[in-house]
Amino acid sequence: MRSSRLVYLTAGVVLTTGAISTPIDSGRTQHRVKSLKVTVLSTMLADHGLGEWGFAALIEADGHRILFDTGNRPETVLQNARELGIDLSSVPDMVLSHHHGDHTGGLLTLRRALATKTPSALARVHVAPGIFSSRRKSDGKEETNPTIALKAPLEASGAVFVEHRQPKEIFPGIWLTGPVPRPHPERDWGAPMKLVTSDGLVTDSIPEDMALIINTDRGFVVVVGCGHAGTINTIEYGQKIVGPEPVYALIGGLHLFAATDSALAWTAGRLRDAKLSYLLGGHCTGLEAVYRIRELAVLGRKRAVVAAVGSSFDASKGIDPLSLAQ
Ligand SMILES: [Zn+2]
Ligand SMILES: [Zn+2]
Repeated sequence: MRSSRLVYLTAGVVLTTGAISTPIDSGRTQHRVKSLKVTVLSTMLADHGLGEWGFAALIEADGHRILFDTGNRPETVLQNARELGIDLSSVPDMVLSHHHGDHTGGLLTLRRALATKTPSALARVHVAPGIFSSRRKSDGKEETNPTIALKAPLEASGAVFVEHRQPKEIFPGIWLTGPVPRPHPERDWGAPMKLVTSDGLVTDSIPEDMALIINTDRGFVVVVGCGHAGTINTIEYGQKIVGPEPVYALIGGLHLFAATDSALAWTAGRLRDAKLSYLLGGHCTGLEAVYRIRELAVLGRKRAVVAAVGSSFDASKGIDPLSLAQ
C-alpha cells in the first residue's frame, strides 16, 4: 500500500514523497489505460514542421493529455503543434525528463503562449529532484544548467513544479518513475558537465532523469526523453512499478547514437527478452541504433521506426511513421 503526502516547499514547488515500505507492487492492482496515442512534436527528422536536436511528445491516454518535454528551440513545439493541427491549450500537465536545454527549451514560450488563452494550460510541471541543481564545465566557472533560469519566470506565470522523489501514478495507469535506479552500467550520458555538490564538482550522471510509464492491456509503454538513466535500467524499473509485463512500446530518445556494437547488441537482447513490440526511436537514439535493435530484437520495419515530427504510436494501431521513415 502506498501512502503519499504533499510537502509544500518554497516558491510554489510541491514535493510528492511518502513511504515505500514494500517493493513497488501497488501497480499490480493494475490500472490500465484503454486508449493511448503518443505523437512526437520535436525530434531531428521532420516530415512536417521543424526538425531539431531535441525531444517532445504529446501523450493522450484515456482523455488525459500530457506534454512530455518541450523541445530545444523556444518556438519549435508551438509551431509544430500548430502545423499538425494539435491544440496544446487543453494540456494541463507537462513532464520535464531532465534539465538539458534540448528538452526544456520550449518551456516558457509554450506556457506563456498557451496560458493567455487557457490559464490552466501546462500549469503543472512534473520534475524529479536534481533538475535545478547547479552544473558547471570542468573549469567550474559558468552555470550550465539552463533550466534554473526558467524556474522563477514559470512560477511567476502561475505554474507550479511538482517534484517526484519516487514513482507516482499521476492518473490511473499512468506513472512517473521519479529518479531511476541504475543497476546496469549503461552510462548513457555524454556531455562533460559537472554537478556541483557539497564535496565539490562530480561527474554529472543526470540523476533526475525520469520516464513516463503507461500501463495497457498489452504491456506497458515507456516514454523517455534522452535515456540518460539507461534504456534497460528504465524498463526494468518500469517492471518493478507495474509488474513483470512485456514492454509493449518504447518511445523517445535512447541516447544510443554513439553506442558500441556490443552495447547495442546487449541492449537489443534485453529488449527482446522484455518482449518489446514497438520502438519509435527519436532524438538521440541514433539511426544505426534503431536499425540494429530492429534486427536484433526481431521487430521488422513496421515495428521499429525512426521517429519524425508528427509520427505517432497508437496502442491499438501501432506506429504511424509518416513518409520518410516508413
Ligand atoms: Zn539530455
Ligand atoms: Zn536530449
